Amino acid sequence: MPAFDYTPPPYSGPPAAEILAKRKEFLSPSLFHFYKKPINIVDGKKQYLFDEEGRRYLDAFGGIATVCCGHCHPDVVSAVVKQMNRIQHSTVLYLNHAIADFAEALASKMPGDLKVVFFTNSGTEANELALMMARLYTGCQDIISIRNGYHGNAAGTMGATAQSIWKFNVVQSGVHHTLNPDPYRGVFGSDGEKYAKDVQDLINFGTSGHVAGFISEAIQGVGGIIELAPGYLPAAYSTIKKAGGLCIADEVQSGFARTGSFWGFESHGVVPDIVTMAKGIGNGIPLGAVVTTPEIAEVLTRRSYFNTFGGNPVCTAAGLAVLNVIEKEKLQENAHVVGSYLKERLLSLKDKYELVGDVRGRGLMLGLELVTDRKLKTPAKTEIVHVMEQMKDMGVLVGKGGYYGNVFRITPPLCFTKEDADFLVDAMGYTLSKM
Ligand code: PLP
Repeated sequence: MPAFDYTPPPYSGPPAAEILAKRKEFLSPSLFHFYKKPINIVDGKKQYLFDEEGRRYLDAFGGIATVCCGHCHPDVVSAVVKQMNRIQHSTVLYLNHAIADFAEALASKMPGDLKVVFFTNSGTEANELALMMARLYTGCQDIISIRNGYHGNAAGTMGATAQSIWKFNVVQSGVHHTLNPDPYRGVFGSDGEKYAKDVQDLINFGTSGHVAGFISEAIQGVGGIIELAPGYLPAAYSTIKKAGGLCIADEVQSGFARTGSFWGFESHGVVPDIVTMAKGIGNGIPLGAVVTTPEIAEVLTRRSYFNTFGGNPVCTAAGLAVLNVIEKEKLQENAHVVGSYLKERLLSLKDKYELVGDVRGRGLMLGLELVTDRKLKTPAKTEIVHVMEQMKDMGVLVGKGGYYGNVFRITPPLCFTKEDADFLVDAMGYTLSKM
């Protein structure tokens, strides 16, 4: 484990077993945990987490791609505390500079005319609003989203989410799911333009010929770190625009410097009409946002529309601090440099171990898919659980996902170092060598 000069304060709270018992009795049974014996995380510092006994873990999941500057970054903590001591909440009916300052800073990170910000509390809320805006602006109902994508879990966004494991059988109308341009498992391999033809087919055969919009992640996160086939997004955007629709970039995971560019969509050479974000923008403080053009934002003036906590000054103070830390510590560059190094090292595992079927992703949003048969791409569902468990015992926490649950998701805080990358790959390699 790389050296790290920090000792967390002694923990005096209840032990893991007691928390687990409370969780079983009082928290929703839908909540699950990764490990046979769940760990009780009581402290965090930079890219590390600490359990109740002070044991240190390298956090390579980053609170599901949420902790971008590192745990408890002092600049973010002090911005939040400072704001807490001034005003914690008033209402959007009054003015407060913390909200306007962050909106201005966010707009400065956007291309084109994307400059009007609406704050929410989560990614789901941001996407709900984006879908509604597209429908209001175009006067159409039909939305196109990509199979295997994840966009949230409220009524509208669950419709756009396209994986059965994340969908309940409740009304989710008006969404059509197009082929996933997945270079590894998709029917057209890496030919992005072929997949994009399915968008036109959906419009031709499933709608009136006009659509409200299209929503897509730049790299699918929950879906198993799937990079969209090259050429796909520009072709899909052009098809949607011809059908009168708006293009929504869901940057909830891929935004805020994670992929090595500030926004994931930049690497596809497209400019969306609406951008949604959450997770990394508050470094773990609940905050989401929708950014769009003044013309599209105008649709919200047709009725009264607001959000009690969205744009809370404590959260936006955190957001502004996060932006400043990304700049000051060159975290975008670090995501690119360390991410490229880590990807190379993960690819070396593919050369050595048959179980590794694919390595993909950009920056510090990387995936490694385990399969028991490379030709058939049979998901190694039990093997991945074993490897994760062993890695945890060695002090490395990674995520897992994908439709079959056989993909490692590596989305650490963006202050991850090359030494961390080596430690992660060595721990994974050691475990794979024993399989
Ligand atoms: N969009 C994407 C790409 C996500 O990964 C997620 C959550 O994982 C969401 C939207 C929903 O965000 P939240 O869980 O904050 O509602």
